[in-house]
Amino acid sequence: MSETVLRLLLSELTTVRVLCRQKTKDGQDCGGVVEVPLGQLIRLGACPICQNDLRHTGNDQFYRALANGIAGLSKDQAAAIEFVIPAKP
Ligand SMILES: [Zn+2]
Repeated sequence: MSETVLRLLLSELTTVRVLCRQKTKDGQDCGGVVEVPLGQLIRLGACPICQNDLRHTGNDQFYRALANGIAGLSKDQAAAIEFVIPAKP
């Protein structure tokens, strides 16, 4: 059985899409989406829909680690990271 996949080089990542998993004030799943340039990821703050903080535990350590990791590995001369993503029909 053949499979269609998408291959995405880490260095091709320029925009990050963040999906809110929190609840709105009336208890509904928020589902807010924010797209930011990778370089702006560490400046991410509140969800535009529910106003909750999008940063895990209220600080930016994981966003900072992700942004720094992507930026560093994208420039690596020894190896290139590529994601293989199954394409669903
Ligand atoms: Zn939200």
